[in-house]
Formats: sequence, C-alpha cells, structure tokens
Amino acid sequence: MALRQIRLEGDEILRKKSREITEITKNIKILVEDMLETMEDANGVGLAAPQVGILKRVVVIDVGEGPIVLINPEIVKTKGEQIRPEGCLSVPGKAGEVKRPAYVKVKALNIEGKKITVEGRELLAVALCHEIDHLDGRLFIDIAENIEQE
Ligand code: ZN
Repeated sequence: MALRQIRLEGDEILRKKSREITEITKNIKILVEDMLETMEDANGVGLAAPQVGILKRVVVIDVGEGPIVLINPEIVKTKGEQIRPEGCLSVPGKAGEVKRPAYVKVKALNIEGKKITVEGRELLAVALCHEIDHLDGRLFIDIAENIEQE
C-alpha cells in the first residue's frame, strides 16, 4: 500500500468525468487500497479516484462506521433535504454549507464485483453525494453557500 498525492483545486483533472470500470483488475484493487490509506492519513471521510489523479469511477468513504468501497456508484433514490457544512481534501482551508438530500440510496459494485446497495442518511448521505459528484467533475464549492476561508 502507498499514499497517493491528493490533487488540489485548480488541477483540471478534478473537472473531468471519470470512466466506468468494466473489470476489477489487480490495479483497481491496489488503487482502492491506496485510496483507503490516503483517506485515513488525511483524516478524510471520503475520497474519489480523480482526487488522486485517476479518472475512474471509484470512491471510498468512512464516516466512522468502517470503510465503504464503491465502484461505478449511482444514486438511484433521494428523499428530503439537509444543509450541512462541507469541506474537501482537494480544497483545503475552505468550508461551506451545502444543501443535499437527507437520504440517498446508491447502487454500486463492491471490490469483489458484487452488486451492492448502500443507504445513507445524515453525514453518510452527504459523503455519498459529495464523492459521486467528484466522478462527474463537480466540487462542493460549485454549490456551497457562505464559503469560508480558514
Ligand atoms: Zn471532495
């Protein structure tokens, strides 16, 4: 396992759309291991592959309930709304309030290629939306209000 360098706002790779994964190769498994380690090292609650320079649809999330690995994640249902402060490892020093669904249901593949469904509320709903946005080149600062610079 190895730490990967986190790309920062201004790096154009963060604005590109990531590609679907058609086969979970050894390289994808190594990428996931490295992303988990990088997220943990940075004390993040989530990390998407484009943040480490890889335009593939992979995200890892850990809101304190253990790591979740999602390959080709897709939001299939949302309910309600919530407004919470957000930050991003790629946008250090900035925070802002973002309106997100209160509940989201996501379909994805796990690291074994098995179809899984993840339901999230509160912080997990936010993390799911935030990380999946990264796969389409969107950053929280695009939709945040009252952005504060530390
Ligand atoms: Zn982020």
